Amino acid sequence: SESLIRVEDLKVYFPIKRGILSRTIGYVYAVDGVSFTLARGETLGIVGESGCGKTTAGMAVTRLLPITGGTVLWQGDDVVKMGKGSLRRLRREMQLVFQDPYSSLNPRMTVNEILSDPMDVHGLYTGKQRRERLAFLLETVGLSPEQGRRYPHEFSGGQRQRIGIARALALDPSVIIGDEPVSALDVSIQAQIINLLMDLKSNFDLSLIVISHDLAVVEYICDRIIVMYLGKIVESAPYKDLYGSPKHPYTQALLSAVPVPDPMRKKERVVLSGDVPSPIDPPSGCRFHTRCPERMTICEKEIPEMINFGGGHTAACHLYARATMQ
Ligand code: SF4
Repeated sequence: SESLIRVEDLKVYFPIKRGILSRTIGYVYAVDGVSFTLARGETLGIVGESGCGKTTAGMAVTRLLPITGGTVLWQGDDVVKMGKGSLRRLRREMQLVFQDPYSSLNPRMTVNEILSDPMDVHGLYTGKQRRERLAFLLETVGLSPEQGRRYPHEFSGGQRQRIGIARALALDPSVIIGDEPVSALDVSIQAQIINLLMDLKSNFDLSLIVISHDLAVVEYICDRIIVMYLGKIVESAPYKDLYGSPKHPYTQALLSAVPVPDPMRKKERVVLSGDVPSPIDPPSGCRFHTRCPERMTICEKEIPEMINFGGGHTAACHLYARATMQ
């Protein structure tokens, strides 16, 4: 299928500055050579622990963050080279939904004002059209047009995330990027918001990128999942393959921590030792070697190649490179 977004060898390094002259003394290698695509109508999950670069990778495609290297193509156009006009159109096409719906909504604005803001910026839906648009957006996310006159603090957490989603829909985008869109919500509310996103996806022909630390959340919505560790993709697969036969020891460890209702699927919990190392000075070879229960001598010396398992399933781990060489 046609890819809306194609990311190749993306690098996002943040300089660390020190002293009066603000000299660069190092870099945070937040995203370090990441490639992925988003097809039209697809839901892509980007998963990993905090500090793995998932948010940076997801956000970089909007060019809201500086891109250090690599290419990001939007329907074939290079996002890095875009001028003001094209960038404006791009930002309209890609909208963000944030983790904390409360801090992302201005408390002094009514919901109608919040939803109007992006339309004002882009000069869209004026006069009578505006009123209709506001009512439509609120109803679409399960709120009533009357609620548009209220302020964010008058709503529950789940309702506030509905408002955040309505704002993201205001300009009729093609892609919504959700950064931990349900992590701040009660588990009972999470399912409602996930269902809402799924409905919107089919009703509005949307493509979604869902960034989450929680594999249980992305399992329900994503067609394909990318697992990141310290700025790199370690595994990428259609969700069935990722959950059914995870290849990378890191993915296996993450999955072993997800509670499963089916006792037949129950696996022994893999507890990872230590914290995620610093992205300022990532480990040599396989970046996961300092915590990997399956580490071998080669692992700290050589960067593992991405191995293709077929059917869109890839993983970067020396365990499999060996197996295929024999
Ligand atoms: Fe573990 Fe080595 Fe595979 Fe890295 S390459 S995940 S350290 S076995």
